[in-house]
Formats: sequence, structure tokens, C-alpha cells
Amino acid sequence: MNATVRVEIPTPLRGFVDGQATLDAEGTTVGGVLDALAHRYPALRGHLFAPTGTLRGFVSVFLNQEDIRYREREATPVRSGDVISIVPAIAGGASGPAPSGFSREEMQRYSRHLLLPEVGLHGQQKLREARVLLVGAGGLGSPTATYLAAAGVGRIGLVEFDTVDLSNLQRQILYTTGDVGRPKLDVAAERLRALNPEISVVPHPGPLTRENALGLLKEYDVVVDGTDNFPTRYLVNDAAILTGIPNVYGSIYRFEGQVTVFGARAGPCYRCLYPEPPPPHLVPSCAEAGVLGVLPGIVGLLQAIETLKLLLGVGEPLVGRLVLFDALALRFRELRIRARPDCSLCGPQATQKGLIDYPEFCGVPPPGTAPAPDGITIRPAELAERLRSTDPPLLLDVREPEEWAIARIEGARLIPLDQLARRVDELTAAREIVVYCKMGGRSARAVAQLTELGFRGVRHLEGGIDRWGREVDPTMPRY
Ligand SMILES: [Zn+2]
Repeated sequence: MNATVRVEIPTPLRGFVDGQATLDAEGTTVGGVLDALAHRYPALRGHLFAPTGTLRGFVSVFLNQEDIRYREREATPVRSGDVISIVPAIAGGASGPAPSGFSREEMQRYSRHLLLPEVGLHGQQKLREARVLLVGAGGLGSPTATYLAAAGVGRIGLVEFDTVDLSNLQRQILYTTGDVGRPKLDVAAERLRALNPEISVVPHPGPLTRENALGLLKEYDVVVDGTDNFPTRYLVNDAAILTGIPNVYGSIYRFEGQVTVFGARAGPCYRCLYPEPPPPHLVPSCAEAGVLGVLPGIVGLLQAIETLKLLLGVGEPLVGRLVLFDALALRFRELRIRARPDCSLCGPQATQKGLIDYPEFCGVPPPGTAPAPDGITIRPAELAERLRSTDPPLLLDVREPEEWAIARIEGARLIPLDQLARRVDELTAAREIVVYCKMGGRSARAVAQLTELGFRGVRHLEGGIDRWGREVDPTMPRY
């Protein structure tokens, strides 16, 4: 006995049934109902049935919530009140998800990916299942995170401990002027979720440490190194090797960038390239050296491209090749780098089986912590008092002339740190010296140099001119 069944017609097929979204039809099986429909609307037949009379492979048919391929196909019996849904594969379903599980909105959002044979639905599905951990949401992490979120990477983890500073906005494009003072992690998660609500953004309040690194990296398929200091770089590298995931590396300095992929099969790791970190005083940070704002954009996007290629398994990954980018010459160069057979971490005779003490290894304080006062520092208020006295100390500024031009403390003498050794004669008359730089790093090295050369009573300004500006002279420009 025939049952009366409602049939949901998807948008692409409504043109063949006078624009109707639902139709009632009779039959005893799903195939019978659809056949009856095709009788009434002959133009529909070719879209539902192959010439042999079976349902076409690119059309999925659901009875109520069930795919009939898991029932008795066309022979699945129907009862009155049942609902049949027709879901063509290509356009996505009007009344349910397409077979791939992508909604119509996602199909539209990712359409320019879906058109690429190298990505397509299959690749987009891979991206949706992918998990990428970004260490650092600064200059490199901002563009990388933005494009990975836009591309539909299903889970993006962010490790960051900093707050937004006005001086970040020249290059850290996740943040705007109104965000100054807010935790970067909060703002970044908001922006990325607003850009793509289909993905999940997982904030990990940083810093990345020896204690949390392995556990965190285990949750991800790829790690992207967007850090700006050596302890964290070695930590990311070691944790990536120990957990067996690739590490997409990028670094920037003034006008130059480096990109490569470490930790991939048969490829080198960061320790293969640099078994030891440089001594801290040889490599200034971005805060000390400056960086062209666009540079991390370019390097971060190269990291994003390499990440997507790894996830999709397409193209030639940047493994065993170190790309150097020179913005002033606008030139890319490529160097071959190899896995060292004697690498202590990734070589066959590796001796390092776990994480180590990275700040100690690199000779610097851990990121996110203030250096402990060591008895050779002077606080801004005390310095201000000493400078007003009848017997003021010699005030030595060891920054670069560009920084001196922005702001300086009245009465100071400028000798950039790299000129200090050959210009010490200028200081011999001083009985007391106070050194300062921007944050206190270079001035600490100057104190060490001068003390080694026999100077006594040398101190340096805690927190540098940056803290001086906050505590003593708020009118001073900060940078
Ligand atoms: Zn290695």
C-alpha cells in the first residue's frame, strides 16, 4: 500500500520542480517515491537516476535522518509521514550537511581553495582536521595566525604571555591602537575567531617552558616558531624533535629574514645548524636592533605557506633548505642545510633525550621574567637624586645614535656599546659611572666590560631609559 511522503528538494534542483522546496509523493519504497516524482517532473529524472535506473552516485538520499545507502538503498521501505531529503554532492545540502561534512557557508568561505586541484574538498578536510601550535603571537605570529585561521586550519593553539604595547603596532597586525595594554592572547583569540568562527582557537597562556613544552606540542601536528629569543628557539626545536613534529622556523633581524622547516623526516634540526647559541651580547633583540615592520609579515607568511604545504602534503617542503630574505636588496637566497650525523639531539647517536635548562644554556634570563637586581644597579629615583647632587656620577649612554635622537637623559654621554672598548680613555677621569641603555641588557654588559677593564663603582640603571621614562620623566618619548 502506498505511503505519502514529503520530499525535500535542494536549491539546485528546485528549478526542475517549479521552484518548490518540498513536494509530497507516493510510493512504497524510496526508489518508488522518487520515480513517481520524476514522472511528474521529467526534467528531474536525469538528475536523480542514471540511465540504468539506479540513483546517481553524486546524489545522496536520506530517509528521515538516515542515509539510505546504509539501509536498503532504493528498496528502503517508506511509511506515511516520512521525509526524504535529496542532497547533491557538489552544491552542499539545503537540508543537511554535504557528504564531506562541510556546510554551505564553509563551501563558500573556502571556495577559492576548493577550486584548486591541490586542495579541493579533500585538502580542505585535511586542514580542518589539522592542529597547529604557534609559539609567539607577535610580529611573526600575527600574519601566520591570521592566514592559517583564514585558511581553515581546524585548531590553532597560541602560546603568548605579553600584553599589547604601542611599539608593537608597527608590525604586529593582529592588534589595534585600542588594544594597547590588553593581553595579546585575549585580543588574538578574539580576532581569529571573528575572522573564522568555523575553527577553534586555543589560548595557552605562556611562556613556553621546559615543564609545559612536551605536553603542549604533543597535542599538535605542526609547531610554528615565532619567537624572538634563543632560549625559546632551542626549546621549541628540542620539543619538536622529541615529540616528532615538524617545526616551521622563521626569524627576523632589521631587514633580513630566515625561513626553513626543521624536524621533518631526513631533515636537519636547529641544533644541526647551530649546535650552540651565540653569546648573549652579540645578538641584540628586536627591541634593541629595530626591524622593518613589513619584514615579519613576509617571513611569517612564508611560514604560513610552509605550514599549509606540510598539512596538505603538497609541493616541495622547505626541508634541508634555508631561505634568506634581504629586504634592502629584495633578494631571496637559498642555502642547503643538512642533518648532522653527530647532532646531539636528532643524530643516530643522540645523547640528549629530554629538555634542558634553556636560559642557562643560552646565558640569559628566561623570557617574561625581569632580571634580578644584582647590587650593581641603581633605581631611577635614586639616579635622579644623585644627578641633582653636587657630586653627580658620569652618566654613560651605551645605545645607538638613532635611539639617542629619540630620547636621552640630560647630561649623559653617548658611547654605543660596540665602541666602548676602544673609547674607554674618555671615562678614566670619572670616579663614579652609571650606565644606561633602553631596557638594561646592554648596560649590564657594559658594566661587565668596564669592571673587567679595572673600573670600580660602575652601576647601571635598572630597567633602562624605558623605566626612567615611566618613573621619573613621563614626558619623555618612549620607543
Ligand atoms: Zn639535529
